Amino acid sequence: MLRVDATVHAAEVARVTRFVVRGPDLRDCWLWVGAIADDGYGRFWLNRHGHKHVVRPHRYALARNLPLGEHDIVMHEVCELPLCVRAEAGGGHLEVGTQAQPRPDGPGWGTRGAPLVLP
Ligand SMILES: [Zn+2]
Repeated sequence: MLRVDATVHAAEVARVTRFVVRGPDLRDCWLWVGAIADDGYGRFWLNRHGHKHVVRPHRYALARNLPLGEHDIVMHEVCELPLCVRAEAGGGHLEVGTQAQPRPDGPGWGTRGAPLVLP
């Protein structure tokens, strides 16, 4: 379960936010400009409870709104850009789904590979 508490993880959120560029228009993407993995999605490290974890920024962005389960899939619902991390409530570009839901054939499913598990 990935949880991001604005108070408890304030320093962590500030560090991650430094790698996000918000487009000039109100509806533009917020792009991750930190490290990018071979699959086209961002990556960064968290240190929680003495353990380091690799986290995908679009999952982290969504977890700022609600805890993200290990089987939750983050979908890029609006823009389909793997580096978009715009997940604010009521207008974000990301939505959460589960693996129990039917998987669409088209683009828009933002998470590939193993889910993130954090304490
Ligand atoms: Zn976007």
